[in-house]
Amino acid sequence: MGTRRASKNGSSGSGGGGASGGATGSGGKDADRRVGRRALLIGTAVAAVGTAVVARDELTRAWWRVPGVAKPRKEGEVDYTGAKWVSASDANWRMADRPDDFGIDMVIIHVTQGSFDSAVKVFQDPQHGAAAHYVVREDGHVTQMIRELDVAYHAGNRDYNERSVGIEHEGFVEKPEDFTAEMYEASARLTARICARYDIPLDREHILGHVEVPGTDHTDPGEGWDWDRYMKLVRAAAASRTSTPA
Ligand SMILES: [Zn+2]
Repeated sequence: MGTRRASKNGSSGSGGGGASGGATGSGGKDADRRVGRRALLIGTAVAAVGTAVVARDELTRAWWRVPGVAKPRKEGEVDYTGAKWVSASDANWRMADRPDDFGIDMVIIHVTQGSFDSAVKVFQDPQHGAAAHYVVREDGHVTQMIRELDVAYHAGNRDYNERSVGIEHEGFVEKPEDFTAEMYEASARLTARICARYDIPLDREHILGHVEVPGTDHTDPGEGWDWDRYMKLVRAAAASRTSTPA
């Protein structure tokens, strides 16, 4: 989410910078309808080289990791231990089978421009057209709303959506004092875990702000987001995890 730069299309939504309205409405544009074609391509590829793929990968992959075979899902299951599950409207994401159909190599940092509750609420609204995988509250609580398997409409860029996990943070771009120590730490632990899961390098090429996504008109997480502090926390969380099993 986040505030827009000078509104290009004049639909900047409700006043007060709330999380509702058009703040992330542009995410709807990447609600691409080409999933059918993509699925078709995958299906064809599997049919053509399926045997070779299975042979090559059989030592390192479980059967369900073969592209085109959907992984088992359980209602309410989360990808991050400790996260609370609240499902987003299925209009705000699309089903995928990541990281097998699309590799995940980015974490994208957002700021909600509103309260935690308002962000969770709009992500449940099918009219909103956008949602992130996770929302982190000021006290460090983490809610997951979309499985990492799936593509969330959060970056306003189809390619980046397919390749990333999106994390929203309660607060306002203009009020960096909203970014509490608890929030930074909780988010850093979450990002470290995501990066470990998909082998994502812990650098700013791969952990980026919404503002850095090509084509976006959003400014979050804003100048007030302390990247040095955040990246240090992410690396520290990753280092501490190496001694404790997942
Ligand atoms: Zn954003």
